[in-house]
Amino acid sequence: MSEHIRARNAGEGTRDLRYPPLPEPLEVGTYDNHTHLDIEDGEEPLSVAEQLDRANQAGILGVVQVGVTLESSKWSATLAAKDDRVLAAVALHPNEAPLYETRASLDLAIAEIAELATQPRVRAIGETGLDFFRTTGDEAIDQQMYSFEEHIRIAKENDIALMIHDRDAHADVVETLKRVGAPGRVVFHCYSGDVDLAEICNENGWYMSFAGNITIKRNQHLRDSLAIARKELVLVETDAPFLTPEPFRGRPNASYLVPITVRKMAEIRGVEANEMAAQLTANTQAVYGVWNG
Ligand SMILES: [Zn+2]
Repeated sequence: MSEHIRARNAGEGTRDLRYPPLPEPLEVGTYDNHTHLDIEDGEEPLSVAEQLDRANQAGILGVVQVGVTLESSKWSATLAAKDDRVLAAVALHPNEAPLYETRASLDLAIAEIAELATQPRVRAIGETGLDFFRTTGDEAIDQQMYSFEEHIRIAKENDIALMIHDRDAHADVVETLKRVGAPGRVVFHCYSGDVDLAEICNENGWYMSFAGNITIKRNQHLRDSLAIARKELVLVETDAPFLTPEPFRGRPNASYLVPITVRKMAEIRGVEANEMAAQLTANTQAVYGVWNG
């Protein structure tokens, strides 16, 4: 494995760097539809094999490994091609696109993403989108918007899912999708909106993927959104190694911790954990297809 990036989490130096213990496994298996197996965290980072094995032990049948740079997108596609527990998403992250100094160099990278998107186990373009929190300045935003629109085009051309990173940019993401035309399957990764955005997703048939941060007390808007989301539009993810659910917040995250989030989601929606997991599995397969074969 190449080019491992090290996670930079808030509070580095004071964090508890031990991986949390394995939770009670899910009885009905499901999937982590957004993880970064190549971003290392923890005092003893888990290998990719260890992460996938532990996920299986917890009842997680497979993951979508998500690229954020051209390098990590290539790595994701290669891993998916050789491990039947992994499907890949490929893209230049919205904060990566502005780092290309010229439009021509960005176009070359986007062309390589388009090439990767034709591989059979690359089932999503992501993560792409808009991030007005980390990217500022007209020129950078312009480059980010251009990249987002190009990624939308690639998802449509290949009829695969679009996995959206939306940070402080809800209105502009929605406006862009409507203006250029949304692909058949759109996923708001690490759903961060309120009930107004959830209504828009419900109306348009866009998927809302919830992460471990729904367990955090101050995030009532996420729980309210989950409560009104159409059941066939709900997904679960880790965004590991980030967004570790309570009570392990701040420690490294990994796909084997998905059961904690699934149980919380079941509680919020007033259903049994098994029913929640079965629904999430059906929804995940509707977006990405099947993992095996
Ligand atoms: Zn991510």
